[in-house]
Amino acid sequence: MNLVLIIFLATALMASAAILAILISRLRRQRAVMETILSATGSESPEEAAGSLARLTDREVVAGIVSTRLKQLLATYPKPVLLLDESAAIIDLSRKAETELEQPRRKRGLLESLGSHDLDEAVRRAMDRLEPQELTVRLHAHGRRPYAASIFPFRNSDRRECVVFLEDVSTPMKFGELRSQFAATVSHELRTPLAGIRVLVESLRDQEMPKEEAVRFLTKIEAETARLRQLIEEILFLSRLESGAAESIRGETVLRPLADQILKDKEQLIGKFEVKVENMVPDGLSLPLNERMATTVLSNLIDNAIKYSGRGSRVEISAGEEGNRVEFMVRDDGIGIDAEHLPHIFERFYRVDRSRSRRLGGTGLGLSIVKHIVESAGGEVQAISREGFGTEMTVTLPASGIMEP
Ligand code: ADP
Repeated sequence: MNLVLIIFLATALMASAAILAILISRLRRQRAVMETILSATGSESPEEAAGSLARLTDREVVAGIVSTRLKQLLATYPKPVLLLDESAAIIDLSRKAETELEQPRRKRGLLESLGSHDLDEAVRRAMDRLEPQELTVRLHAHGRRPYAASIFPFRNSDRRECVVFLEDVSTPMKFGELRSQFAATVSHELRTPLAGIRVLVESLRDQEMPKEEAVRFLTKIEAETARLRQLIEEILFLSRLESGAAESIRGETVLRPLADQILKDKEQLIGKFEVKVENMVPDGLSLPLNERMATTVLSNLIDNAIKYSGRGSRVEISAGEEGNRVEFMVRDDGIGIDAEHLPHIFERFYRVDRSRSRRLGGTGLGLSIVKHIVESAGGEVQAISREGFGTEMTVTLPASGIMEP
């Protein structure tokens, strides 16, 4: 009898504990929802919240609720999202915003980060009036592509904040459009040195021209012709690489002797620019590229480091291995690259200073070729730079022997 009573009491106790647990969890959920609403509406009590909610739009409530769940959302949301404070500085941002927009950072102002006055004004207007705003803006990202921006302001305690959703609305170019755009760019690039040559040749017709002047003009024609040849060769090389018709890029090239050879070939250039170059690559490291591709990559980076450094600058080539990756760096303490230009330097024909690049015999294709080769081999190239302080280019590749066949 006693045993039956004990079993009955135990079962009743367990059942009450389960009911209590359910009640507590429900209460907790309700409290969490209530707290979310209070924080979204900036209210102190449920009554006040009810009043505030009546005045708020659905979107504002959603934005408020979103803000409390922001951490999870920001990690996974597939679009660029920014959470801004009252002064339009970035409190937090989605991973996609970090990778796609390249410039924004926490605590930085929106205008400074994305460079759009229109977006900055719309954000301030949205927070001022507590009214959502929608507009299309052009951002630095990917060559000033258009982005649709949706701004949802809300109150957070006594402050105002807003969430900005961005969406790339540029229509992807069709292959035909890309091809004709490329043809237009190429013909423009070819026309410039050709026009220069024509003017020089015209001037040489002048019978009265002093001999020294004529020799100077002929030297210029020679330089322009060399530039044209290099341009055509690089365009063809890049287009063969892109079409996949190029010879295989794979192989194995030992890095240190390659760097030594390139420096030897560039002795004249190094002397002309009075730059000190140091090969600090350890013995025994190899790149998973054939010699031609490895030379093209390294030579382009070294060339730039020498050309864009002032007299007396230092250039260092170093390398290392980490896990399955091999990494090499070309570092200079030269003129550096402004943050505004940095995201674009790997684009075809992009030059920070066209006339300087032209003077130095550049084509604007070197870095796009480097990027293409490195990415085709499963690696990546990264530039870190500060205007006036120098540039560091880092190439990371799978260590030789572990590339897919
Ligand atoms: P270019 O033929 O003009 O050198 P690249 O594609 O090699 O073309 O480089 C693109 C642009 O990036 C250059 O015109 C230059 O403005 C900038 N750049 C590249 N490397 C450096 C560097 N080490 N220091 C400063 N600017 C650089």
